[in-house]
Amino acid sequence: MRIIFIGPPGAGKGTQAEKLIRYLSIPHLSTGDMLRRAQQLDSEVGKFVGKYMTAGQLVPDAVVLRMVAERMSEPDCNSGCLLDGFPRTLGQARALDDYLQQRGTPVDAVIQLELDEEELFRRLAGRARSDDSPSVIRQRLMSFREQTRPLLDYYSKQGLLETIDAGGTPDEVFARIEAAIERHKR
Ligand code: AMP
Repeated sequence: MRIIFIGPPGAGKGTQAEKLIRYLSIPHLSTGDMLRRAQQLDSEVGKFVGKYMTAGQLVPDAVVLRMVAERMSEPDCNSGCLLDGFPRTLGQARALDDYLQQRGTPVDAVIQLELDEEELFRRLAGRARSDDSPSVIRQRLMSFREQTRPLLDYYSKQGLLETIDAGGTPDEVFARIEAAIERHKR
């Protein structure tokens, strides 16, 4: 299965992604991880993406799209993958659809973890780095909301969106994800 995973900082996305890739035996494709690896290489691409990342800005779509397409064409992705941190823009979502349509392997489901903002704030404040002031945390949550809202509409219209309550224990949350995934198996 090809699954897109969306969740605000603090919702437990990392923990749930780990459970889900084990459950479905698919690779975990995190564009943040791929870009951080690229950034560490002493190359033109590394310097280019590093400029955006250190400024906290999105890396241009063309670069991210090429990376994802290359990774998705590797054999271990034949039976699917979990896309984490991608797509982040409508342009990326449309390009992903085009790419997958050409291959006849569409997205199966979009899992969105949802938790009320006060709870997210509490969790983030509890684990925050020392430079994370309450206003910075609020800003991160707001940027996420602004950035992802158009994507949620886009996938909701396609009947792919599953909104999961991220409250409770990790096992409780995963049981909800599992049920949602089962609804989208072909
Ligand atoms: P993340 O670990 O997902 O928070 O990503 C870390 C950084 O990598 C982001 O702040 C962006 O600069 C960049 N990045 C990750 N994924 C994407 C994406 N899909 N599109 C553009 N930039 C991205």
